[in-house]
Amino acid sequence: MHKTVSFTQNATNVFFHILTQCNLKCRHCYINPEQHGRNTLDIDTIKNWLKPFSQQAARANVIFLGGEPTLHPELAAAVKHARRLGYGSVTIDTNGYLFHDILDKVTPDEVDFFSFSLDGATAATNDALRGTGSYAKCIEGIGRARQKGFGTSLIYTVSQANLHELDAMGPLLAQLGIERFFIQVLGLRGHSIRTGAGATPLKLVTRGNWQAVIPKAAENIARRGIRVTYPPVYLAPRMPFECAGLVAHNYFIFPNGRVYRCPLCEDYPIHAMRFDGQALHATPPINEADLFRLSIAEGCVMNKLIHPENLDYDSDNRPVGRIACCMLKTEIEPPKID
Ligand code: SF4
Ligand code: SF4
Repeated sequence: MHKTVSFTQNATNVFFHILTQCNLKCRHCYINPEQHGRNTLDIDTIKNWLKPFSQQAARANVIFLGGEPTLHPELAAAVKHARRLGYGSVTIDTNGYLFHDILDKVTPDEVDFFSFSLDGATAATNDALRGTGSYAKCIEGIGRARQKGFGTSLIYTVSQANLHELDAMGPLLAQLGIERFFIQVLGLRGHSIRTGAGATPLKLVTRGNWQAVIPKAAENIARRGIRVTYPPVYLAPRMPFECAGLVAHNYFIFPNGRVYRCPLCEDYPIHAMRFDGQALHATPPINEADLFRLSIAEGCVMNKLIHPENLDYDSDNRPVGRIACCMLKTEIEPPKID
């Protein structure tokens, strides 16, 4: 079975943003050019920056992202180089427009998964979030990738604006032949918090709605033969809390050279590492790595700092439950058929 990003302890994932340019303007886009850069990395830099992580873990997963990574004219060369370096899996995250004939320049042996982003089971809901015509383009892109024999996965970023269509995703995913489905929580970062003139910020799914809807919807979708991954967000009382910054190896590389270990930190200059030219360095304290070691009753430290609206307190000001790490997720295998 093809591998892709893994949201488990001990996993090594390299989320490589090779540019921040994109053809869409999604309402919840987390890209923040002031913090991530506006440049497109040249192919030599991409090759050099892939190297240190392939040496740290023989079976690391690399995920090429942007912006829209298929806008990079040398994405295929980057994929082939990642394979030569021995990465355990290669995934391309895409909005479905698949620029530069990328499907003709790589093979299913080189790319394990094309991972498409769709945020509604209908064009009306998706296009209100991602832009007019993006639903049709994404569906068409999935069909083309499947026809060429590529593995396909789909990412659904849930907010109060599209929660109602999650159940309807099951039949659509089955019809499209999607193998893996990733439910992602809306992050209050990048565009989501830059409301601009007249824009209404998207709303996080409430605790009650998350607990009532997401696990059940995930089970129902998995019954269709699709592996489903979702963040628990709200930890049940006996579930242990872990911070992926301490127990996993996730690296979020941006074109300006910043390398973060936690996605919730990406709007702030607190990255744990950076590339200076071709050399990868740890940054001096205080940085995100210092936060990972703080133990607080609310669970995830960064959530308390930037998503405090997720937290509830009792009358003695004690937190009601803890918030899980967004990088350690629940995975539901499809039931085995004898
Ligand atoms: S969310 Fe992805 S597809 Fe949408 S604007 Fe941002 S980078 Fe582009
Ligand atoms: S999301 Fe929270 S728990 Fe997870 S790596 Fe970041 S700081 Fe740690």
